[in-house]
Amino acid sequence: MSAPLEIQENTILVIIGASGDLSKKKLFPALFGLERRCLLPTDFKIVGFAPDEITHDSFLSIIKSPIRLESPRFAEQLEQFCQRCSYVSGHEGGVKSFNALRRRLEQLGTGKKEQNRLFYMALPPSIFTSMQDGLRKHCYSERGATRIIIEKPFGHDLESSRELQRALDPNWREDEIFRVDHYLGKEVVNNLLVMRFGNEIFGAIWNARHIDNIEISITEAGGAEGRGSYFNGVGAIRDVMQNRKSMPVLKVAYLSCHGRSNADTRTTYNGATEIFFSGRLVHRKGFYSCSLAARDHVLLTSFQARVLDWMLPIEHVHTIIGQYGKSSDGEKPAFKDEQDVPNDSRCATFCAAVGHIENERWAGVPFLLKAGKALSGSLTEIKIHFKPSANATIFSTQPLPSNTMTIRVQPSEGVFLRINTFVPSLSTQQTSAIDLDLSYHGREIPEAYEVLLLDALKGDKTRSVRRDELDASWKIWTPLLRHLDDEDAETMRPREYAYGSNGPEGLDEFIASYQSTSS
Ligand code: NDP
Repeated sequence: MSAPLEIQENTILVIIGASGDLSKKKLFPALFGLERRCLLPTDFKIVGFAPDEITHDSFLSIIKSPIRLESPRFAEQLEQFCQRCSYVSGHEGGVKSFNALRRRLEQLGTGKKEQNRLFYMALPPSIFTSMQDGLRKHCYSERGATRIIIEKPFGHDLESSRELQRALDPNWREDEIFRVDHYLGKEVVNNLLVMRFGNEIFGAIWNARHIDNIEISITEAGGAEGRGSYFNGVGAIRDVMQNRKSMPVLKVAYLSCHGRSNADTRTTYNGATEIFFSGRLVHRKGFYSCSLAARDHVLLTSFQARVLDWMLPIEHVHTIIGQYGKSSDGEKPAFKDEQDVPNDSRCATFCAAVGHIENERWAGVPFLLKAGKALSGSLTEIKIHFKPSANATIFSTQPLPSNTMTIRVQPSEGVFLRINTFVPSLSTQQTSAIDLDLSYHGREIPEAYEVLLLDALKGDKTRSVRRDELDASWKIWTPLLRHLDDEDAETMRPREYAYGSNGPEGLDEFIASYQSTSS
């Protein structure tokens, strides 16, 4: 095992877009979380950068506003945290702003040999390209590491995602780019890897022989709520399926589906180690010029990218799309009631799609993906449905329910394994399905942004989305997105469903048609 990475001395994090929603609600509270856990080195500094000309005190108020002081110790730590923070006003349109930022960074590094700079891009996507260009030209650390942290969305289709990448290419090396998706920072998602690879009992059954289907649900109870115009241009597939939540969940689900038993290693003539998965080269040690720890991360993320690569593009015939109408009591608005959403909008606020992985281990196992807004509840979970037991009728005239393993990302992170047991009784011979509950009740779980920020500060890329993964995931969805954008494709007109319902009519039958188990 490699030595853990640490935050380097003299590191500065610059939050670009420090007055925005993401910074206020997520980034500053997460950084304060790291302060509370004593994970920030004493010389670590934070600089906020945004167009508003605000005073130092007003900037500190932005930082403090979402933080609830639960104890006097908290107040002390918050003051300590604020001493790390300062603000520079500026925008992407002028060299003057970048020069002001550079001067502040130089001031903070006075007397130090090296300075490591991280730029968190908490910005509207429209100004991202010019901003990163300016930062590279004027604020790159010539002595020390420089990293850029990018928030989703990473484009809106394969071409725009590649365009974004082409803008980054002349300025940043891949090891300097951190693509953040907060689902990858969730504890339960990370735990899935350990559960899969650290427990022999799961390795043996993780394949098409034992698993019937895998269901991934990402549902939201709320509708577009004031963001109708934005959502109308994006839709559930870009917003949820590809871009935001499902990609990391899906990726880890697929990764968890692969076993090291499939891996093979070979030493090449020049001493490098090559690692193969199902006969395909996924990693060559020595090929990447990076530290030992980073090489291990390359190995892990290579598996992930390869798994996405194996997935076939989603076909529209294996898809149902929907758009929410008013709630059945008429109280909640339809999507088309949102401001600036046209009456003839064909935007999908719901999508259920079936994907397949083309390899020996997973041939024939459907991956059922379901995501949407204005549904009966907010839930993100992966449910693995196992095949029915061959002995199912020995104990009961009714078939026993199949085993399931549920990995719940939210609400209440946890893992549940449903098994059949005997109900203790002298008079009857009854069985019942119970959940082995591995939930996280009462345990303090780090916030996803704490995990991801700490990774970037340390230079740990395990949870960062790699460019080849991004490319592979867009390849899965782009043909369907093109089909949806085709005005003539009548089959892709969304089916209306009521706000607060379980989704469009026909959904249960659609899902059941890909499942052979009852659970
Ligand atoms: P906001 O619009 O709330 O904030 C954007 C920030 O960028 C503000 O500080 C804004 O300053 C600043 N800004 C705008 N124009 C310029 C400019 N020309 N030069 C410099 N700074 C500028 O957006 P969010 O914080 O909501 O989102 C930021 C990014 O994060 C987006 O890409 C979004 O998709 C992504 N994201 C957001 C999430 C959230 O919870 N909000 C969750 C996940 C991703 P000013 O206030 O003065 O306009």
